[in-house]
Amino acid sequence: MRQFSADYIFPINAAPIPNGVITVDDDGTITSPPAPLLGNERGVTHLKGILCPGFVNTHCHLELSHMKKQVSENKGMTGFIGELISKRNNFTEEEIENRIALAEQEMICSGVVAVGDISNNNSTFKQKAKGNLAYHTFIEIFSLDPSKAEQTYQSGKKLEEELKRSSINNHVSVSPHAPYTMSLELLNLINEDAKANNNIITIHNQESAGENELFESNTGVMYDAFKNMGINPTFMRKTGKNALESTLPYLKDAKKILLVHNTFTTQKEIHWIKSNISDLTSNIYFCTCPNANLYIENRLPDYQLFINENCKVTVGTDSLASNWSLSVLDELKTISKHHPGIELNTLLTWATKNGAEFLGFDQLGTLEKGKRPGLNLLKNTDGMKLTERTSVFKII
Ligand SMILES: [Zn+2]
Repeated sequence: MRQFSADYIFPINAAPIPNGVITVDDDGTITSPPAPLLGNERGVTHLKGILCPGFVNTHCHLELSHMKKQVSENKGMTGFIGELISKRNNFTEEEIENRIALAEQEMICSGVVAVGDISNNNSTFKQKAKGNLAYHTFIEIFSLDPSKAEQTYQSGKKLEEELKRSSINNHVSVSPHAPYTMSLELLNLINEDAKANNNIITIHNQESAGENELFESNTGVMYDAFKNMGINPTFMRKTGKNALESTLPYLKDAKKILLVHNTFTTQKEIHWIKSNISDLTSNIYFCTCPNANLYIENRLPDYQLFINENCKVTVGTDSLASNWSLSVLDELKTISKHHPGIELNTLLTWATKNGAEFLGFDQLGTLEKGKRPGLNLLKNTDGMKLTERTSVFKII
């Protein structure tokens, strides 16, 4: 049994406790929840800084770890996709595996305890089977060609089976890539699968303005880029509605949906989700990946909107193809730098509790008795504010 005290403890399920103390078992299980330090406790390790639960990274592509510094910054979504496709296969299997292991280690050292990870192939399965981190793997599929829907879906299911065979502890579900890469037939197959298996799913959402234009009027940079890539223009759905409204109704039977990025999501769309939520049996979560947004589009989502509308926000790092690190703290520091008014307890709720809840990891996310959520120490904060110099030290 160990006891730690700190300047502040953020249990996340309750208000921050100044000068608090917490007791944990040798295996990291919390035996008594955070409480104010009385001063007469014996054997307490005193830490300078803020204690909080381990971080949950709800959006990562571990399989792209070898692409670190390979794709230019600020090229926009279509430029990013083009460069990624042209360079991602220039590496040996061994190089890819080594970078995956290193990236996982980087996440562990930066206090991450669970990951929602996107897989297009099996290159991360061996690493995931080691059980170093808790993972939910989203097998990502996409195809605009309706005649390829069944075949694409079946290859996703095969990959899902392969992951299930490689490790009993892996959570997994088949998920769509993004509104602009899916046929209605493929969305329907994913929805049926989610309904039958009570799946959570994720989808990239409104990462660039071109996505909305494509659906609204079959115009814009994304539409043009797809046409230039030789994609049959009749496959690109023209609905007169934005990307989100054109897609979400077809995924209505998933248990929960994580919308990732939401850089161009507006109040009108949040209201649309709310008014349609009775049709959508799912719970909607919003994942933000601020550093990837700055890397690709040089723009951030409207955080105040998500706060005002009481949305459940989670945090992701995206991949090393579009980020400088896989540190959840780095993402929080970026948000805090651009929006200093957002309280640390809110940021930490996004980075811990909400992500654990979405991914279904009940043991994680809050410092509650009986849970085993990991324990992070944030050093060099300015009271209850993050600064450029804030760092994270993994206590458990
Ligand atoms: Zn992504």
